[in-house]
Amino acid sequence: MRVLLVEDSAADARLVLEMTREDPASSVELVHATRLTDALRRLSFETFDAALLDLSLPDARGLEVVKRVQETATDLPIVVFSGQQDEAQALESVRSGAQDYLLKGRTDAMLLTRALRYAIERKRAELQIQHLAYHDGLTGLPNRRLFFDRLHQGLARTRRQKNLLALLFLDLDNFKVINDSLGHLAGDQLLQEVASRLSSHLRDSDTVARLGGDEFAIIMPEMANVEDVIRVATKVQWALEPPLYLYGQSHHLTASIGISLYPNDGGTPEALLRCADAAMFQAKRRGRHVYHLYSAALGHESSDRLSLCNGLRRALDADQFLLHYQPRVDARTGRILGVEALLRWRHPTCGLLPPSRFVPLAEEMGLIVPIGQWVLNTACTQAELWNRSAAGCHLRMSVNLSGREFGNKNLGKTVETTLKSTGFPPSRLELELPERGLMGDEQRTASSLRELSSLGVRLSVDDFGIGQSSLRLLKQLPIDALKIDQSFVRDVATDPYNTAIVRGIIGIAHGMGATAVAEGVETPEQAAGLMGQDCDELQGFYFGMPQPAQALTALLEEAAD
Ligand code: C2E
Ligand code: MG
Ligand code: MG
Repeated sequence: MRVLLVEDSAADARLVLEMTREDPASSVELVHATRLTDALRRLSFETFDAALLDLSLPDARGLEVVKRVQETATDLPIVVFSGQQDEAQALESVRSGAQDYLLKGRTDAMLLTRALRYAIERKRAELQIQHLAYHDGLTGLPNRRLFFDRLHQGLARTRRQKNLLALLFLDLDNFKVINDSLGHLAGDQLLQEVASRLSSHLRDSDTVARLGGDEFAIIMPEMANVEDVIRVATKVQWALEPPLYLYGQSHHLTASIGISLYPNDGGTPEALLRCADAAMFQAKRRGRHVYHLYSAALGHESSDRLSLCNGLRRALDADQFLLHYQPRVDARTGRILGVEALLRWRHPTCGLLPPSRFVPLAEEMGLIVPIGQWVLNTACTQAELWNRSAAGCHLRMSVNLSGREFGNKNLGKTVETTLKSTGFPPSRLELELPERGLMGDEQRTASSLRELSSLGVRLSVDDFGIGQSSLRLLKQLPIDALKIDQSFVRDVATDPYNTAIVRGIIGIAHGMGATAVAEGVETPEQAAGLMGQDCDELQGFYFGMPQPAQALTALLEEAAD
């Protein structure tokens, strides 16, 4: 037993030394300090099994001695060794953390060693209870209570250092399946494995906690920048990746991770946890096994999203959609050959919304098919009106289809009935398919396109060059036009790399007997550059903005004069 004796009186110290020698079985090794500062210094460099403290020292008195020793050595058993028979002080000492209180002059060798031994046992039991109260029984990780304590401390430290604190909220993606199919024992084993993998991949200053079920949290105080946070999040994902063997079967663990940051996302533990939780849900929605950073925008975006979702359900019935039409011109003559119908939503409170704000949402909600039918019908009705006028009798109408609509097996029927009911000639309707929408099942893509083509409508590939369509597949499809993506057109006149791509796409289009169309043409330089490359048709703000039908009618009439 290595015991630190803190005692300024030489006579009392000698007495204690004699007592420990008296009982050869006690095997106490005494280290003597005469001042509190001396004791504290030793405590921070050496380890002791217990401390024996006098409460009247030259540099500290009373309970302060107990407190200061505890602050330096939290887990150290303490026995007070006082000259005063003061019951109140004895009680206070024990309350403030000492394990026993001995009176000088009333203590013999046996009592001393026994008090020291009991103090050590008592402290051990105390620590164990404390551990149980603050840790998760299954994994041994800090529990929710300790997690909040540590988060408080971490925030205070980070605030002082003026750097970042990151909170990672992890939810296992496939825990329920394993738990349900292999039983709780396997589930427990899995959670223990996750706990140990997470702990071994983090710094000492980080805290991994189990918040409940299959939810874990990691506190990372004093981070320098967001890049470092992301690096750790990736490391955590890697740590979970190696297969885990349960009952001779290998399982793959993945987790969805939500990340919130102090000071960006909140200043309190509760706010940060709420943000990290919301970000985790976002990660799950984006396909699991991903991490997602909560940004101030997310809270805004998600409430925004919610109200858009609700509004979108009613928009069709409330007649809130409308189409704008953008001219497409012949690159050689500048004549308007056709228009592209572009969808807009007149939102009751947000105003006119572009498709990027709601088309992806409509796809997710399964609303794109009825909306698409409305677009097709409205566009063909308008086109037939122009068809019957002198100025617009030659016009083609282009309608955009999303990947979802393209996958719908009733598409052919819908197009056929719409053409019949509106009377618009099939040969003048062009359906624009996003390049992304052509990927996937090649056979099905080919047969859908052939079905559409057999109706006599034209087909074009939209935003060509940014997807990954296979040229082999493209060659077999009945494509009438390739629309070069705006990103290549933007600096076609100045960036030799983009010039080469544009030239290449035009070559591919012509090679397959299709028309090359450039979109997003904004300047005369771009138009000239494209004409120089033998591009057939052009579309963009330079030739006309997307605009309501009446405005376009006026433009057509002007052009006819
Ligand atoms: P897109 O089919 O590639 O349409 C061209 C987009 O570029 C339009 O954006 C148009 O307003 C914009 N644009 C045209 N000329 C210029 C220009 O010179 N400079 C620039 N910077 N932009 C130009 P919009 O109307 O916001 O539509 C975005 C996308 O939404 C469309 O891209 C299309 O993929 C989709 N979309 C539009 N209408 C519909 C629809 O009825 N159904 C479906 N499924 N998707 C639609
Ligand atoms: Mg388009
Ligand atoms: Mg496009």
